[in-house]
Amino acid sequence: MELNTRAVHVVNEPFPEGSWPLSVPLVQSSAFAFESADELAGAMAGPDGQYVYGRRGNPTVRALERTLAGLEGGAGAIAFASGMGAISGVLLALLRPGDRVVAQRCLYGGTHAVLADLAERYGVEVVRISGDDPAELMAAAVHPATRVLVLETIANPTGRVPDLPGLLAAARALGVTSLVDNSLASPVLCRPLELGADIVVHSTTKYLSGHSDVLGGAAVFADDELRLRVWPRTVELGACADPFAAWLTLRGIPTLPLRMREHCANAATLAELLAGHRAVTAVHHPWRPDHPSYAMARKVLAGGGGLLSFELAGGREAGRAFIERVRVARLALSLGGVETLVTHPASTSHRELDEGELAAAGIGAGLVRMSVGIEDAGDLWADVEQALA
Ligand SMILES: *Cc1c(COP(=O)(O)O)cnc(C)c1O
Repeated sequence: MELNTRAVHVVNEPFPEGSWPLSVPLVQSSAFAFESADELAGAMAGPDGQYVYGRRGNPTVRALERTLAGLEGGAGAIAFASGMGAISGVLLALLRPGDRVVAQRCLYGGTHAVLADLAERYGVEVVRISGDDPAELMAAAVHPATRVLVLETIANPTGRVPDLPGLLAAARALGVTSLVDNSLASPVLCRPLELGADIVVHSTTKYLSGHSDVLGGAAVFADDELRLRVWPRTVELGACADPFAAWLTLRGIPTLPLRMREHCANAATLAELLAGHRAVTAVHHPWRPDHPSYAMARKVLAGGGGLLSFELAGGREAGRAFIERVRVARLALSLGGVETLVTHPASTSHRELDEGELAAAGIGAGLVRMSVGIEDAGDLWADVEQALA
């Protein structure tokens, strides 16, 4: 079935009595009771049999895992407590001291921090690439202990899109496990497993759940053997999804394709209007022809996504004033929810950095990030205009 249908018809098991509740039941139980010792022991063997204990599996969580596997075109999935739970869990499960990771330079801050920690304290070597040229991976992966390639479909806040088809094919040829963070694209705009990725990770906190009311994460596997190898280690780590969080995420998924359409349309409209405003010196959105990833975005994405960033001529002061003056958009750090959010890294997440350090991190002092929601575009633009004025 096509994606809209797969999103609406989330995986839902029949009730034992033979009827189906239309909404997936929330099974808020930490453990499950048995009458036979053998049956209980047998249920502990893997992730797909009877339920035993919440960290090893839960019916609501399993419905989410099977729904996400269906949306991404994977063999199976593991749900986590957060996006970082998924990223840390998969990297810890795959890597040993002395292994090499090849990672895109422009990555989510939390992923950067995990890789830096793995390098400093666990002897994992991390090599950075731009993501624009598969030859960089071929050069970096000559090292025999190269295990994992880490990419993001759409990088934040630059909107850079790596050469996914080229890099994923090269990783496959080299026997390197590829991991793609697809949080910003969602399976509506890109399905990296179809392009050759081994693992897709999500912060389901963002577009998948979509309503800024839950934290969650997931890893979806192209090959079930890899999922079964990773699963026992994620049970040990304990960053498992809570049933209610899984239920809220399942509540959001049926409207994901509709929401993504509005996020993309509103972001494209605002990007165009911002580019014509005299207070704005640059707009970064991959659906714009002047964006460095424009050609790649048109090739691998079904839309430009809801995240954009722009630079204000007035620098640090102007960025700070803007995020404090918006009235419809809210000043908050997350993204991917139905409401429009803005942030200004130079006066929030990156306020300790001076102008030189900001430039080195690729963040302009006047750079504003906007997660464009699904409000009316006219209201959003009126809000942006009054804040810029
Ligand atoms: C938010 C985010 C994460 C982390 O997810 P949490 O759910 O906050 O742990 C990872 N990757 C990307 C691209 C994100 O935007």
